[in-house]
Amino acid sequence: MAEETILESTERTSGRDALRKNVQAAIALSGAVRSTLGPKGLDKLLVDDAGGTLVTNDGVTVLETARVEHPVAKMIISASSTQDKVAKDGTTSTVVICAEMLRNAWQLVGQGVHPATISRGYAQAEQLALGYLDELSITANKDQVLSAVETSLSGKLDRAMEKHLAKLSVAASEIIFSEGRADATTVKIIKQTGGNMTESKVIKGLALAKTRIHPEMKERGGPGKILLIDGGLEKRQPKLDAKFNITSAGMMEAFRKAESKEVLEQVRNIVEIGCDLLVCKEGVDDEARQLLANEGILTYRRVERKDLDLLARSCNANLVIDAKKATAEDLGEFESTREELSGGVNHWILNAEIGGATLIAKGSTSDIVNEVERCFEDGLGVACQLLENPVLLPGAGATQSAIARRLRRDAEGVPGREQIAIEAWADALESIPRFLASNSGFDGVDSILKLTSAQNQEGDTYGLNLTTGEAECSVKRGVLEPLTITKQSISGATEAAISVLRIDDILWAQMEAEIPDDVQQQIQGFGAE
Ligand code: ADP
Ligand code: MG
Repeated sequence: MAEETILESTERTSGRDALRKNVQAAIALSGAVRSTLGPKGLDKLLVDDAGGTLVTNDGVTVLETARVEHPVAKMIISASSTQDKVAKDGTTSTVVICAEMLRNAWQLVGQGVHPATISRGYAQAEQLALGYLDELSITANKDQVLSAVETSLSGKLDRAMEKHLAKLSVAASEIIFSEGRADATTVKIIKQTGGNMTESKVIKGLALAKTRIHPEMKERGGPGKILLIDGGLEKRQPKLDAKFNITSAGMMEAFRKAESKEVLEQVRNIVEIGCDLLVCKEGVDDEARQLLANEGILTYRRVERKDLDLLARSCNANLVIDAKKATAEDLGEFESTREELSGGVNHWILNAEIGGATLIAKGSTSDIVNEVERCFEDGLGVACQLLENPVLLPGAGATQSAIARRLRRDAEGVPGREQIAIEAWADALESIPRFLASNSGFDGVDSILKLTSAQNQEGDTYGLNLTTGEAECSVKRGVLEPLTITKQSISGATEAAISVLRIDDILWAQMEAEIPDDVQQQIQGFGAE
């Protein structure tokens, strides 16, 4: 059968044409986020179908929100999302570097270099660069960790707030750091609209906007055992549409009694296994509430599932569905519990061995509170990474420029056409300082020249001061970035670029909207009467 018949309903673009279209898609994508790069980058206003708005400076947010159809653009967005997951930052850089790599590759193809040769050169360049990253890195002290978190937040909020959030992120990461690990998911965020965002704060312990269910229940200053119920202590409410065949007057009463007995047994078991603090996902009815208060068991109810999971991890407790079947092994441990008024809302705060911390995010509008939350999450991610692995690289384009310079030198020793591919890769990496400069109102080419000559004379730590446009030592200025971010953006961008270079055929399925038979019949029948 001829190829054409098999691919009848498929639109096909192949060879150079395919590459050209894919490179165009990558450049268009990078064009959408490039202007947000760096501390002087501008914001984007995103508007969705329903008219909802979001102002952001975050590359990956722009891309993940945009409705992108092109498969290659989707591949690059996925590299950026991976960057966000792995390193929490560097998402715009990844997209920009990848697009520049492809732009440069396209030029080489025009000069007759085969895409496979370019891919090989790019892979070689990546390996060399990763080796240099370790050489360029420094071990961070405490102040530098804070500076690195500030760098990752720069350009997202106003300067004072960036500094404040950086401090909060570091504080939260230190609270949850245990046994060489800091798991950012153990930090709870409570959002409060009203007040100023600078009033946002971090509390040690898990805070929930909850009040104990009975005023007679006492707070516990000391340690105790906690039971988590993934359900409630309630009588089942006979629903109106439930089928009940009530055949005698006493039947409803008997049903209630049986239910009461059930609740009583649940409470009895909770007391017997030695629980001091009870937390339920669902409700606790009046009868159980009084019984629990009499037994001195502090109780909170209607706690969301994700908060229950957090409590389970912090206290090392099991989630139990049926309180009657809970055992002493299901109990977790806490250090203390108290209630505190914050912003007019009562908060229950629990301290446990494996820490747990809470950010109370404040802001005058819900948009601002959401932005505080997003920035804190980014800052926290970076702070946690740095506690686990305190290794930094000089930012402000210093590292990218230093690597590009080294690679150009290395390329001279590489025989064959891979040599120009390595140079093209180096140029792509250097687009970071170039765009940082142009986004700040300086000439990209002049700035690169200044930077290269300063690095030659003073050393690899020189980056761009984006206020003056001059080259300065990034380590002294405290513009520092975790090694993980740069490493991941170099590998992510190169790997995405190589996968795009490998494509030489795009087969687009031409999908006609097919209407299922039964729907077809309904449509035909519609309006027939
Ligand atoms: P990304 O999504 O890639 O993290 P950003 O918009 O956060 O993009 O910009 C990150 C870049 O900005 C990094 O190259 C970083 O070194 C640089 N940068 C951050 N703060 C400064 C600063 N104060 N001066 C110069 N460059 C900075
Ligand atoms: Mg960033």
